[in-house]
Amino acid sequence: MINAEQLFHEQLTEWDEFRQRVEQLDTIELRSFNMGNYTIYAQYNPARAVSSGAKLDAKSIAARKCFLCQENRPSVQKHQDLNERFILLVNPFPILKGHMTIPHKEHKVQEILPFIDDFISFCRTIPTHTLLYNGPQCGASAPDHLHFQAVLKGQLPFETEMQSISTRVLSECKGNKMEEFVNYGRKCIHIQCEQPAMASSYFQQLYKQLQMREGSESEPKMNLFGFYEEGDYHLFVFPRKKHRPSQYFEEGDAYKMISPGAIDIAGILVLPRKEDFDNLTKEEILDVFSQVSY
Ligand SMILES: [Zn+2]
Repeated sequence: MINAEQLFHEQLTEWDEFRQRVEQLDTIELRSFNMGNYTIYAQYNPARAVSSGAKLDAKSIAARKCFLCQENRPSVQKHQDLNERFILLVNPFPILKGHMTIPHKEHKVQEILPFIDDFISFCRTIPTHTLLYNGPQCGASAPDHLHFQAVLKGQLPFETEMQSISTRVLSECKGNKMEEFVNYGRKCIHIQCEQPAMASSYFQQLYKQLQMREGSESEPKMNLFGFYEEGDYHLFVFPRKKHRPSQYFEEGDAYKMISPGAIDIAGILVLPRKEDFDNLTKEEILDVFSQVSY
C-alpha cells in the first residue's frame, strides 16, 4: 500500500505555491443544486482557468512543454513509484482534497484500455483515494501524456448517492455486477467486483459496446472513476458525447467557461469565472449534461 497522504503532507511543507493553492481550496466558494434524487455542486475556482481554457488541438499541445514529463517538472515536486510504469505526484492545481496525479513514466498518449489493470490495481494500492481518468477528448489537459488522478475518498457526489440512487442491472454473476444509474441527469455505469480481473473484464465488455455505439475504432469518449472498499472494486464509467458544450464556443455574453472533465460530470462543476458561477442554474446544468453525456 502507498501512503499518498504522507507524500501530500511532505509537499505541503516543501513547496510554497502548492501549499498556497491547497489553502485557497478551503476558502473556495461552493453552490449546491438539489436536482431531486441527486445533488450537483458548483465550485468557483479561478486557478483552473488555465486548464479549462486550454487549447487542446494537436498543434497547441505539441507547442507546449509537457508538465508531466520529468525534465519539465519543478525540482521541488517529489514522486513515489507505484509500479514499474507509473508514479504518484501531488497535483499542483488541486480541485479537491488530497488531489494527486499518476502519470506514466514515459511520454505516451492518453488511453485507458492497455492500462485498465494498472488503474484497477491502484484502487487497492491507494485505499484512501478515489482514482479517476479523463479520456483524451473529454477533459484530459495532457492528452499526450498518459495519466490518472486521485482525490481523497468521499468528496464526489456519486460516492454517497450510489447507496440511494435507482439502478438497472445490466449484468450480474456470482456477486459481481454491472448496473446503470437511473434518472441521474447523465449516464453512469457502475461495475462492482470482488476480483480485479473480473472488474477488468466487465470494463472491457463495456468499452467494446461503447465503441460499437460510437461506430469508431478509437477509444470511446469517457470519464472513469474507481475505488476499493470493503473487499470490492468499484468502477464508474461516464460515457461522453463530447468534451465542451455549445456555451463554450459562443461569443460575448453567451460565452461560458464550462469545460467538463471527470470531476464535473461526477457532480462538481468547476467554474473559473465568477459570472458563470453566479449565474449557473439547474436548467443550465441539465442542458450541459445533455450535451456532453451519452
Ligand atoms: Zn510528457
